[in-house]
Amino acid sequence: MDSINTNVGDQLYAIKMVLDRNIKIEVGRLGECDFQKGSYIYIGSAKRNIGSRINRHVTIEKVKRWHLDYFRPFVTIQHVITFPVHGGECQLKEFLQNELLGEVVVPRFGSSDCKCDSHLIKVKREGSENIYHLREMWLTNRH
Ligand SMILES: [Zn+2]
Repeated sequence: MDSINTNVGDQLYAIKMVLDRNIKIEVGRLGECDFQKGSYIYIGSAKRNIGSRINRHVTIEKVKRWHLDYFRPFVTIQHVITFPVHGGECQLKEFLQNELLGEVVVPRFGSSDCKCDSHLIKVKREGSENIYHLREMWLTNRH
């Protein structure tokens, strides 16, 4: 992993990771899902203890609970960035998807509790580019 940027008081997080081959895996109740090789960003929220939530996502060996837990063993996490809550995790997903020209490739991933199409986006820009600068844009962009 390249970096974790957590900020006190933040309740949202984005995990940027890379998958280096195409896979088809079982993702809990979603069943079998296809993931194409590339860069992905997962967006979530934790009302408290965001640090321990992030540590949990980073850990590979664990009881599987969230959709991301099924995907985690196959990816390399590059950056984890926290964001202040503003509009919420669904708005953050929209924001990051627009800024990074992301697309949804696995519908309903991580979005069982909301109306989003997914909380996992695949981004066109490959490589290990840090997206921390987007936190500033999110801060100045009131939602
Ligand atoms: Zn959502």
